[in-house]
Amino acid sequence: MRQPLVAGNWKMNGSQSSIAELMDGLKAGLSGVSGVDVAVCPSAVYLDRVGSMLNGSSINLGAQTVSEYESGAYTGENSVAMLKELDCRYVIVGHSERRSLFGETDAQVVAKYQAVRDAGLTPILCVGETLEEREQGRAQEVIASQVGAVLDALGADALNEAVVAYEPVWAIGTGKTATPDQAQEVHAQIRAQVAQSDAVIAEQLLILYGGSVNAGNAETLFSMADIDGGLVGGASLKVEDFVTICRAA
Ligand code: PGA
Repeated sequence: MRQPLVAGNWKMNGSQSSIAELMDGLKAGLSGVSGVDVAVCPSAVYLDRVGSMLNGSSINLGAQTVSEYESGAYTGENSVAMLKELDCRYVIVGHSERRSLFGETDAQVVAKYQAVRDAGLTPILCVGETLEEREQGRAQEVIASQVGAVLDALGADALNEAVVAYEPVWAIGTGKTATPDQAQEVHAQIRAQVAQSDAVIAEQLLILYGGSVNAGNAETLFSMADIDGGLVGGASLKVEDFVTICRAA
């Protein structure tokens, strides 16, 4: 009953020509694929261009981050109103690279999440533990506190029709994927945590797995009961791989 979602996080990659090539390939490769929602999340610089390329296709547009502020003197930032104007449907919030490299705090993640919701866009809330945290047996606690930051501040309603992505930090861009059982365990935990506040919202919540998803491992990961698709980095830049991953969902 949950329609899976596969979102490609292009990160800081691509050029005008490589993006045109990628989009041509994806539009052709994904036409006729049904039963899965697909999104691409280019750099903000390319959102407008990719958005026009998506006209007439069923692929959705997403942004990689957003400012928590509405407008004004915030040099370098993009507001949610700007993203909305470009027809973005999704916004990735709290990606581990934003948290670790750019110092985004849970409080900022909550503010960004709320800005996205208020504008009527769908946040993809990223959570996940580092290798050190997993080795210390703290994975569950870390993830619960990242999900809890949004739940406690905004209530379960804020997760209605939203998307959470479980991305173990040690699996991102490393070629080291969580096993389907490892991921399923965390996904079930996240769903149970939300269910404590609202069982219906928890049942409808899309929980994506991210971290070295590729054409070879997607199908087994997506076959797990609580894995509702993927947030894909590296493999989303390769037409064939991304199409295969979307078909596996
Ligand atoms: P990866 O990235 O697929 O390259 O591991 C996933 C992500 O960071 O969203």
